[in-house]
Amino acid sequence: MTSRTTVTNLSESPVGDPAVPRYEITEWRAEHGVVAGITGREGGFDIGLSSADAIDVVLGRWSALRESLKPGFSGLVVSRQVHGAEIATHLHPVDGLLIAEGLDGHATQLRGLVLGVTVADCVPVYLVDPNSRAVALLHAGWRGVAAGVLERGIDCLCGIGAAAPDDLLVHCGVGICGGCYEVGCEVYQAVTGRRVEGPALLDLRAALIERARALGVVDISVSGWCSAHDAEQFHSHRVSGGMAGRMLAYIGLPVT
Ligand SMILES: [Zn+2]
Repeated sequence: MTSRTTVTNLSESPVGDPAVPRYEITEWRAEHGVVAGITGREGGFDIGLSSADAIDVVLGRWSALRESLKPGFSGLVVSRQVHGAEIATHLHPVDGLLIAEGLDGHATQLRGLVLGVTVADCVPVYLVDPNSRAVALLHAGWRGVAAGVLERGIDCLCGIGAAAPDDLLVHCGVGICGGCYEVGCEVYQAVTGRRVEGPALLDLRAALIERARALGVVDISVSGWCSAHDAEQFHSHRVSGGMAGRMLAYIGLPVT
C-alpha cells in the first residue's frame, strides 16, 4: 500500500437543463478544464438502445444530450461494450456520433471530443492527466475489473501523455455500492483475489481503488452516489431485475 495515496469523496452535482439530467464533477471543470459526468434518470431519461421507449424517443435523447454539451464538443464516441478490457485511443476528430465495437474504454487528447460509456451499476472510471491534458473513460463492471480494464486504461494514458500513474487523477463514478451488490464467491474472488465462503457483498469501487493504489496512483476520488439505492436519480440493472435503463457517463476536453 502506498502511503502517498489519498482517496477523497467527490460526488457529481446536478448541472444544466433538467430536461437532460446530468451530474458533473464541477471541481474538475473548474480546476482542470475537464468536463466529466453522467446522465441521470429524472423525467424518464434513459439512453438505452434496448429501452422500452420507442427508438426515435431514445435517439431524441441522444441528440438532446449532444446539444447540451455544445459548444465545447462536436463529437461523441461510444462503443458496443463487451465487459472486456479493450480500450481505443482516439487520435482523429469526430463530427457527430461514432459507435465503435467491442471496446470498454476510450482515451484521447483531442479537444472537442466526448468519450462515453453506458452504465447501470457498472462503474464508470474517469482518468485525467492534468499535465498532458489526456483523458480516458472506462466501463468497469466485475468482469472488466477482473479482466484488467483499469490497468489497461492507465497504460493507455501513460502511452499518450502521462509520464507515470502518479501523474493521474482517477475517479470512480456512479455505480452500485458495496452494500447493494451481493455476488457469488467466484465473482468475489475474480475481482478481489480473495476467497470467501458463499455469497458476499462486493464493493467494485473499493476494488478499483485497491488496484489503482497498487499501480502507483496517488490521487483517487470516489462518488458517494449509488446507482442502486439512489434510485430516484439513477438506473440500476440489479434493482430492476435486468430491465433497467442506461446512463451515459462522459468525459472530454472542450474546445476553448
Ligand atoms: Zn447502494
